[in-house]
Formats: sequence, structure tokens, C-alpha cells
Amino acid sequence: MRFADVIGQDILKQRMRHGVQVGRIPHAQLILGSEGSGNMALALAYIQYILCSDRSDEDSCGLCGSCKKVSALIHPDVHYTFPFPRKAGEMEQCSDVYPQWREAIKEDTYLNYEDWMQLLNAENKQGNIPTKELRNIIKNVSLKSYEGNMKVCLIWLPEYLGQEGNILLKLLEEPPEQTLFLLVGSDLDDILGTILSRTQLVRVPPIDDASLAMALVQRDGVAESDAHRLAKVAQGNYHLARDLGKEATNPHLDAWRQWMTICFRRKMGEAFQWSDDLSSLGREGVKSFLLYGIQVLRTCAVIPFMGSEGLWEGPELDFVNKFNTLNLGHEVISNMVAELEKAMYGIERNGNAKVLLMDATYGLIHAISKKK
Ligand SMILES: [Zn+2]
Repeated sequence: MRFADVIGQDILKQRMRHGVQVGRIPHAQLILGSEGSGNMALALAYIQYILCSDRSDEDSCGLCGSCKKVSALIHPDVHYTFPFPRKAGEMEQCSDVYPQWREAIKEDTYLNYEDWMQLLNAENKQGNIPTKELRNIIKNVSLKSYEGNMKVCLIWLPEYLGQEGNILLKLLEEPPEQTLFLLVGSDLDDILGTILSRTQLVRVPPIDDASLAMALVQRDGVAESDAHRLAKVAQGNYHLARDLGKEATNPHLDAWRQWMTICFRRKMGEAFQWSDDLSSLGREGVKSFLLYGIQVLRTCAVIPFMGSEGLWEGPELDFVNKFNTLNLGHEVISNMVAELEKAMYGIERNGNAKVLLMDATYGLIHAISKKK
């Protein structure tokens, strides 16, 4: 994670960079920001900047061995601690959950506690940071750094350190040389006072509206007009803004998903209702829907060759990725596009939308049936 990948927070980024450049890195810091502020993203970018072997004034290089290891969350000098639901014999310490942890953070650095619990299928169980893990931290920082640089202990959500957290007090007070403790939390009231008094507080403010809106447009495919509205509604919380944005994205996506389900499962009974509903969009609406569908199919066809970078993001990309697991092949997709173009041709010539959509449905089912 580079600073460039963190939404907004320019002032903090600048302060963090400057601290590293002049060699002033407080050895125990609490990076405190409310949900969706990007406190975790900032902490990861900060770590990457500190350990980068080729950093510039602006950012880590993102390319050196160290950057690659930090962004893959496999750097041997960075130890991650986080809450999880303990399960005797299976989940006793954080390293037992590292695969899920890496996947979750790589997928979404703005995830919250609930997302994380859900990923572990533990919605109804309470996560915490067990004593065994605290002993691992103590053991870990006593070891020499593997790569000769700084050792970092990142503790996500120190709110979940119970009274046992006091085991760490001595370490936080007098850490071994070249050791950095980064605590990433959200709720000051839930963090042990003894820990608070031993860390330097770095407050992460809510993301500014302009940066938040831009992130919604670029990362989540939200229309620009909606993005500004949502950024205001979410008040600096990217997590919330993104959730709201899911409803504000291209309205055609749901209709498209529905159509594909009808075609792949041959649900002709639903096809009549669906084409009826869609026709109510009027000629222009139906045309824009068909154009959208053509675009989706073309994207599905090129992604296996070109990858998705720079093409799409967000729910559309999710759809395309799922769709491509069907392995329809280039020919089938071309035939599907041809069906949509035929329907569009008819719409442009004032054909009956409902009839054309039903014809296209049969055409698509036929095209799909040719899958090898
Ligand atoms: Zn680097």
C-alpha cells in the first residue's frame, strides 16, 4: 500500500513522510480514526514508506523487495495482531488466521470489525486478542530484525485487548531499539488507559468530501453526480459511502443480472415480466440498457486477455469476474453481442420493445446453449 492508494488525508501523509525523512518516528503510536477514515490504510502506507529501500520524498517506491513484501503482508519484520474468535485447536493465535487476514486486507483496507468477523463466519461470536498472542508479540520483538531495518508490530483494534493487554505496558514504555508499535483503533473510550498513556496519539480525521467523492467515482464506479451527494451523506466515512454507492451505481446492473439469470436458467416465466418491466424505461432507456449489456459482454471477452486493470471496478467488475468463471468462450460471447445489437437495431427503428426483448432472450438462450 502506497500513500497514493490512501484516500485523502494529505496533511497526515505529509506529517508521516516528514517524520520518516528526519528520522523522527515515535516508537509507540496510536493511529486513531473513526470507521472509514482510512486509519488502517494510512498505517500500512506508513510502514511501507519506513521500510522501503528506494523511497522518494512523496511515497514508497512500490517496487522494491521490501515494498512488495509489505503490500503482500508477508514482510518478516512486520508482525500483525488483530482480534479473532478463538477456537481451541484451530484458531489460537493470529498466525492461524493469517491467510484469511492477508486476503481480507488486500481486498479491502477499509474493512471494519464486522466485515472481518463476517469473513471468518463468526458474526455471532465475539473476537478478542488472546493472551497467547500478546506473548507472541513479546517474543517477536526480542528477535533480531530479519532485514536489518526496523521491526514493526501493528495491532489492529486495540479496543479488543482485555486487561491482559497490560502485559504489553513495559514493551510500549521501553521497546527494544528499532522497534515500532502501531496501534490502529477507532474508539478512544474502549482502549485501556494504561496503553493510551504510553502511546503517541495520531488522530485521523474523516476524509474530506472532494477526495471521498473522487474515490467513489474511481474505485466504485459511482456516477460523479451521485458521488458528491454520497460523500456529503457519509461525512468522511468511505466504508459507508461505498455501501450507499452500491445502490447508486448504474441502475442497469440489476436488470442485467436478472436477465442473465433468466437466460442461463431458462426461466421463461420470469422473462415475460422482466421484458415488461424493462420496456417501461421507454425507447431511450431500453437502448441504453442494451448498450450497457454490449459493453459488459465485450468487457467479459477482453478481460481474460488483458486483465481488468483500468477497465472496471466495483460491482460491475465483480459481475464480470463471476460471469467469466462460466468460460463461455469468445464465439458464444460474440453471438450474444450480436443478439443485443439486433435488438438495438429494432428499437432504433421503433420496433416493439417487449417483443424485441423476448426475441433477444430466446436468441441469448440459443447462443449460450452452443457453449462447448
Ligand atoms: Zn520500495
